[in-house]
Amino acid sequence: MASTHPIVSTISASMRCRCPRCREGRLFNGFLTIDERCEACGLDYSFADPADGPAFFVMTGVSIIVIASWAIWAVMAQPPVWAQFAVVMPALIGGCLACLRPVKAWLVAEQFVHKAEEGRWASYGTHGQAPERYKPRGW
Ligand SMILES: [Zn+2]
Repeated sequence: MASTHPIVSTISASMRCRCPRCREGRLFNGFLTIDERCEACGLDYSFADPADGPAFFVMTGVSIIVIASWAIWAVMAQPPVWAQFAVVMPALIGGCLACLRPVKAWLVAEQFVHKAEEGRWASYGTHGQAPERYKPRGW
């Protein structure tokens, strides 16, 4: 059965932290807590589990940009150490906090669009057993 909801851009849905299916209902119930379902279209968000992905991507991306900028600034202008701490630490913390929600919403939208889910054993044949050649060693 075809969905009545068009697939929307994952970027546009995530920038607004909205439902990946209808782009209307809010995705979060709090700062980073994903709501149970979409208030507009009723999409069950139980599939959404980006785990530590948003934190990893945000910390890596923001750190590279801020530390590279700090290094260039420190070499070129040679500011006092207190000024470096006063600029770099808030930039790291603020940049991470500003990017976490959209990146988490983007990963949830990508999970929805690509139907990504946790891996599980496929059933083979009538007994639901995987052939010996597909079983891990030691089974
Ligand atoms: Zn929705």
